[in-house]
Amino acid sequence: MGAFDGKTVLVLGGSRGIGAAIVRRFAADGAKVTFTYAGSAEAADKVAAETGSSAAQTDSADRDAVIARVRESGPLDVLVVNAGIVLFGDALEQDPELVDRLFRINVHAPYHASVEAARQMPHGGRIIVIGSVNGDRMPVPGMAAYALSKSALQGMARGLARDFGGRGITINVVQPGPIDTDANPADGPMKELMHSFMAIKRHGRPEEVAGMVAWLAGPEAGFVTGAMHTIDGAFGA
Ligand code: NDP
Repeated sequence: MGAFDGKTVLVLGGSRGIGAAIVRRFAADGAKVTFTYAGSAEAADKVAAETGSSAAQTDSADRDAVIARVRESGPLDVLVVNAGIVLFGDALEQDPELVDRLFRINVHAPYHASVEAARQMPHGGRIIVIGSVNGDRMPVPGMAAYALSKSALQGMARGLARDFGGRGITINVVQPGPIDTDANPADGPMKELMHSFMAIKRHGRPEEVAGMVAWLAGPEAGFVTGAMHTIDGAFGA
C-alpha cells in the first residue's frame, strides 16, 4: 500500500531537478502522476519510463496552454506547481521581454493553474507551489525579478487559502534554499557565497524538497494552508 494509492497528481515542470524528484516520490507512493515539461523531452521521457508516469509538453509561459492542461487532467487530488526560471543580471540592463516571461512562468502560471485545478478538485484537495527562500530574503544583487516572483506566491497562497478553504482544499508554498539541480549545481561558482549564509553548509537534495511536498499533500496536513514552508539550511534565518 502506497501513501498516495488511487490519487491523481499533476506536477507542472517535472522533467528535471526538484520537479523530477517530486514526480518520483508520488509515483513511488502509488499515485497516478502526470507531469509537464517545456524543452527537455529526453529527460521527460526518461522520468516517465522510470516511474510509469505520463509526460505532457506544456509551456508554462503560455497561460491558455497551462489552463487547458489542468482542465484536461480532470479532478486532481494534488496539484504541484514547480516549473520556474531564474534571471540573473543588472536590472537596468535586463530585456523586459525576458522579465515578463519570468513573471508568466513563475507567477501567472501558478495562479491560473491553481484556480483551474480548484474548479474540479475534490474535498481534501492539495495545491503546493514551489516558491523560494528568496521570497523572504534576497542577499545578492541581480535577482530582483526572481525574488519578486517568489514573494508574489506568498500573497497568492494566503488569498487562495481563503477562497478554497471552505471546500477543504489547502494551498501552500514550499520555499527551498539552495538545492542541487541543473539550475543551481552544488559545485557551481556561487557555492561558497551561498553556504556562507547557511547554518547547514551544503546544498539540499531534490528528494528532501519532495519529502516536504509529500507531507503537505498527505492526510496529516489537512489543517495547514495559506502558509510558507522553508527548507533552506537556515539560508533565510
Ligand atoms: P531546473 O532548472 O533544474 O528544472 C526546472 C524544471 O521546470 C524542469 O523540469 C523544466 O522543464 C521545468 N520548466 C522550466 N520552465 C518551464 C516552462 N516554461 N514550462 C514547463 N516547464 C518548465 O530547476 P530546479 O529544479 O532547480 O527548480 C525548480 C523550482 O524550484 C523552480 O520554481 C525554482 O525557482 C525553485 N527553486 C529552486 C532552487 C534551487 O536552488 N535549485 C531554490 C529555490 C527555489 P524543461 O527542462 O523541459 O523546460
